[in-house]
Amino acid sequence: MIKVAINGYGTIGKRVADAVAAQPDMEVIGVSKTSVSSEAYIAKERGYPLYIADLSKKSAFEKAGIEVAGDVDAMLKAADIVVDATPGGVGEKNRPIYERLGKKAIFQGGEEHEVAGFSFNAHANYKEAAGKQFARVVSCNTTGLVRLIHALDQAFGVQRVRAVMVRRGADPDDIKRGPIDAIVLNPATIPSHHGPDVQTVLPQINIVTLAMIVPTTFMHMHSIQADLKTATTRDEVLAVFENHSRIGLIRKATGIKSNAQLREYTQDLGRPRTDLWENGVFEESVSVLDGKEFYCFQAIHQEADVIPENIDCIRALMGTVKDPEESIRMTNEALGLVA
Ligand code: NAD
Repeated sequence: MIKVAINGYGTIGKRVADAVAAQPDMEVIGVSKTSVSSEAYIAKERGYPLYIADLSKKSAFEKAGIEVAGDVDAMLKAADIVVDATPGGVGEKNRPIYERLGKKAIFQGGEEHEVAGFSFNAHANYKEAAGKQFARVVSCNTTGLVRLIHALDQAFGVQRVRAVMVRRGADPDDIKRGPIDAIVLNPATIPSHHGPDVQTVLPQINIVTLAMIVPTTFMHMHSIQADLKTATTRDEVLAVFENHSRIGLIRKATGIKSNAQLREYTQDLGRPRTDLWENGVFEESVSVLDGKEFYCFQAIHQEADVIPENIDCIRALMGTVKDPEESIRMTNEALGLVA
């Protein structure tokens, strides 16, 4: 069993912990929090040993009825690998600690590529992780783009991509962020950082991205145009997406045309935390003009799509499963991800 520590038990960390616990070949040996919160209660509820960054706060946790297993250093020492899901920029500060302890670590998309020196996506570059100490699972938007672009590139060759990201303003629990009544250019300059971020995984792809933020909390919406190298048909593209284990087609017959309806659907499916782990590509939007001009809309659940990628990244760095398809299959099966 791979012993996994989750440093930072927030939006991403708590999901990674549950996903690790669901796998047959790994276990959660601890999660960390900086202060008492509802998430600390959930860690207790789930039976995950809770470690804290600053032991002087131990009594505050104990007063709240939450047992503290020790400090973060003790947790890291007991782990084979660490998933660092601390807020953007903290991972960079943690890297020297992982170096000192000689621990493998996975950073998240809030860190720069250089923090790990290797950016990961299971379908695109799983095998390249072999033997590395560090990897970074690219952000939610980048993961969504990489999955779709890589699938198109494998099947038809991609000449160039132009994409617009309509981003959620805040995560559902985030009461401090907005906007609540605006559409914010993010940034006003072109390109947004997403295109260069895609190139950290797919350096050969010519891509320009634009982004804006809107008042919604559940999912980003991507509008994607790609010029393909080989002429194809809409049906052939749909077949590629149908055969991809992390791209889900949102069928016309469902009547789903928004993030809100999609959320209702994932809720009705009984998905944990309403998580949509796969790209939600709107079937109706998939279009191929003149054989080589591809278009689509896709929904990306910001809290969820990176979770299976973190699980595959654990196996890829540990070298326990060599075949990407085998790891992806194991992860999907354990999560209940059926595209
Ligand atoms: P979050 O704020 O929800 O959670 C971060 C957790 O880390 C909190 O529990 C906090 O208490 C803890 N923490 C803070 N400082 C710490 C420290 N020094 N040591 C240990 N724990 C500490 O953040 P998040 O949204 O889960 O984001 C985590 C990372 O994942 C970031 O890099 C972010 O960019 C990336 N990411 C976030 C999303 C998203 O939509 N939320 C999507 C993809 C990737």
